Amino acid sequence: MADDLHGIFIDVDVSPEHASDPELARKLDDACPVDIFSASESGVTVVHENKDECVLCGLCLDASPEGAVTVTKLYDGTTL
Ligand code: SF4
Repeated sequence: MADDLHGIFIDVDVSPEHASDPELARKLDDACPVDIFSASESGVTVVHENKDECVLCGLCLDASPEGAVTVTKLYDGTTL
């Protein structure tokens, strides 16, 4: 699948228990400079096509509760 070509270098994940929070969704949508988070009434989704655009700024982590968002550098296995 073509979708498998995205997120080769970086993976961004929102935990299921936080993904349905519309307020957190708006915060993440506002915080990320490269539009990795898309907010809707039902919560937040990760825009897979944009994941490799992540600049590792950490703003999504600052905007969310501990453990809600995980940013993984797939090339070395570490998380922010
Ligand atoms: S670290 Fe920065 S660029 Fe990456 S997903 Fe979070 S807010 Fe977006």
